[in-house]
Amino acid sequence: MAIPAHVKYLIIGAGIHGLSTAYHLAQQLRAQGKGDGKDILVVDKSGIAAGASGIACGVVRNNYFQPAMRELMAHSVSVWETDPEGYSYHPVGYMQISPESMHADVATIAQQQKDIGYESTFIEGEKESSDYMKNMFHDWQAQGITSVLHEKRGGYANNTKAIYALATRAENEGVRILTGCKVTGFKSDSAGGAIKAVETDKGDIGCDQVVIGAGPWAKTVWDMLELPKAISIKGADGQMHNNIPMWIYWSLQEGTLGVDPELQKTNDGQFPPVIHVDSNAPLYSTYDGSLITDKMWGIYYKPDFHFGGIQGGAAPYAIDTDPDDVAVDPYGVDSPDFVVGEDFAHMWVSALAHCQKRFEGKFEFYKNEPSGGIGSFTPDSFPVFDVFRENCYLIADSNHGYKMLGVGKLVAEELCGQKSRLLEPFRFSRYAEGKLHPVSSSPFPWS
Ligand SMILES: Cc1cc2nc3c(=O)[nH]c(=O)nc-3n(C[C@H](O)[C@H](O)[C@H](O)COP(=O)(O)OP(=O)(O)OC[C@H]3O[C@@H](n4cnc5c(N)ncnc54)[C@H](O)[C@@H]3O)c2cc1C
Repeated sequence: MAIPAHVKYLIIGAGIHGLSTAYHLAQQLRAQGKGDGKDILVVDKSGIAAGASGIACGVVRNNYFQPAMRELMAHSVSVWETDPEGYSYHPVGYMQISPESMHADVATIAQQQKDIGYESTFIEGEKESSDYMKNMFHDWQAQGITSVLHEKRGGYANNTKAIYALATRAENEGVRILTGCKVTGFKSDSAGGAIKAVETDKGDIGCDQVVIGAGPWAKTVWDMLELPKAISIKGADGQMHNNIPMWIYWSLQEGTLGVDPELQKTNDGQFPPVIHVDSNAPLYSTYDGSLITDKMWGIYYKPDFHFGGIQGGAAPYAIDTDPDDVAVDPYGVDSPDFVVGEDFAHMWVSALAHCQKRFEGKFEFYKNEPSGGIGSFTPDSFPVFDVFRENCYLIADSNHGYKMLGVGKLVAEELCGQKSRLLEPFRFSRYAEGKLHPVSSSPFPWS
């Protein structure tokens, strides 16, 4: 495809956010008689699903301690539910299984799910939790669990299939997707002013509106826009905290146990919900019996034919290298630095065995192939959805956004003039104003 000299809407990134925005924006423009998909160009330096969206575990859940996140996720789940087959979405549900230290937090989540009409069952008490889990899996044996939140909606989607489906939908609306085209800079008439053109390695493309869905490359694009590397945040203590880095990287750890996915069927022969267990029970190796940790740990897993086994992950770790020096490329499984190692495999498979007897002694089936990838996180690990430089809409999900299929729809509505109540709590100004989201006691940065 020849590169156009000018487009109305230029979207950077062919992942979940760029493509969901493209597709929904095309629909909105057409419905409102303001244009159509031909007004939209998506550019990607590699290809469709080449970033985090193409390697994500694909878990879709509502379980968030922050009311604003829960409401946003409930909206996205309803978008996934519009076409489960088309989006390769498996609505098996999701379970948050927790120790006493998280009981009170999860109880508020359960209550607020009731308030917003998001169907879930909340089980409290050690015996009650164990009975509930054994009723699903006869071999359940996790220790120290005192609550189970069973979300009846949500589940997971097959990562690349959903993204290709979105690309097809967008193209059917007339959207053009230009792959192998890297954005290298921005042009404007005045310092810090509106963007008039996007510079790419194929030439400049003039545009009226830019949308950025660059995932782990959010910082790279942020720097190109000459936005501040460090910001001030008004903390819960009412004090201003200055010089906080805007972006840091975390490494996400995921892998697959190469057993038949059918192994994880429930007592009644069904495919189970996605299981997420946080625990402070001592974790021992299923390989040699040694103590792996006596600190808080967390894992999630699901049977998945796309990955060919039981696929899941554990809590990520923060990369302490200066963010300016972190090599995002080559990305994902091609990275020489940020794929999971033996420590992860040992911990994760042992944690599976801690939870269910069927995984005991299965360490040898762990698939020894590169997996995992890094994500670009904001200072509070929650998304930033906001406009910068007058006409650049940044969708930066802080790396938990595969599930956020609906965000592109809401962004499209905002671009067509309809402000979104659901996106409002994620504006950049929350940092300076101290309008921060509550912090949970989960070991994950995004709960
Ligand atoms: C291992 C892993 C597991 C995950 N699991 C889950 C999960 O289970 N559930 C969940 O909700 N989230 C999960 N996430 C997070 C989720 O994958 C991301 O938040 C989400 O996919 C980000 O989508 P995106 O569209 O913003 O970015 P991406 O999918 O990364 O797409 C960005 C695109 O921008 C392109 N690009 C970048 N820079 C440029 C440039 N200069 N010019 C042109 N193109 C450019 C890239 O090539 C890429 O294709 C996971 C992430 C990882 C790494």
